[in-house]
Amino acid sequence: MEKTLLERFQEDNVVVEKLDNIINWARAGSPWFFQFGLACCAIEMMAAAAPRHDLERFGAMPRATPRQADVMIVAGTVSLKMASRVRRLWEQMAEPRYVISMGSCANSGGPYWQHGYHVLKGVDHVVPVDVYVPGCPPRPEALIEGIIELQNKIKEETPLRKKSKKV
Ligand code: SF4
Repeated sequence: MEKTLLERFQEDNVVVEKLDNIINWARAGSPWFFQFGLACCAIEMMAAAAPRHDLERFGAMPRATPRQADVMIVAGTVSLKMASRVRRLWEQMAEPRYVISMGSCANSGGPYWQHGYHVLKGVDHVVPVDVYVPGCPPRPEALIEGIIELQNKIKEETPLRKKSKKV
């Protein structure tokens, strides 16, 4: 009699897969993010992490230190004074590290793009951004979409041959 699928899984098995794909699977499944609330967008980031939207479903856990984080979510207005701190915190994250720019302010200066003398016109001037989430502010669902987009990008990487990104 032919064995069922469950019975076949209960036997000793060997999985054959590219090492790149196994590393990507682990990385994409645990994008721990550095809490980086700079302005109003941070409220939506907090809502995304709260039980109603539950970011941890996607393996995305908040961390309070850059040294334990894989992803920096820049949520809010980046003032010129803060820009060098953003860069320094990004440098303190271990590689591989990723950046999600959340909201119009972090993407391009937002409402301050023209007359905001004190606002950086996009966080990508100081750190390399992997995913841009549009909106003012983006809803939690939009941030979740951004995290899924990042996970899809991670799955396409070749970590064993990857060079670090430069800005
Ligand atoms: S994009 Fe809008 S909601 Fe987000 S920090 Fe800027 S002004 Fe606030």
